[in-house]
Amino acid sequence: MYIVKVKDWANAKSDREIKSSLRAVATQFQTALKQCSYYGSYFARSESSNDDRFCDDAGWFSCEGSHDEANCTRRHTVNPYASHDARVLFSTWNLDHQ
Ligand SMILES: [Zn+2]
Repeated sequence: MYIVKVKDWANAKSDREIKSSLRAVATQFQTALKQCSYYGSYFARSESSNDDRFCDDAGWFSCEGSHDEANCTRRHTVNPYASHDARVLFSTWNLDHQ
């Protein structure tokens, strides 16, 4: 989604060089994401042999704390596989510790 926003933003620029650079970066980034299947392995609950994943076998993700903490003391968890509402919550679940 953010790649689409970058491309839209690039298209709105009047400077051709900036527009071209932004499009090139967005395309390069998109290609890199496709090559690694958008890091889908991070969210694959069914692959218990997958060391990359962030969730357990049931799909529970546990907060690991903000970038400047070793872990989270509040024990936040979310399971986006549980329901539509949980998926909406998960989409906004991004180290919100403020
Ligand atoms: Zn937390």
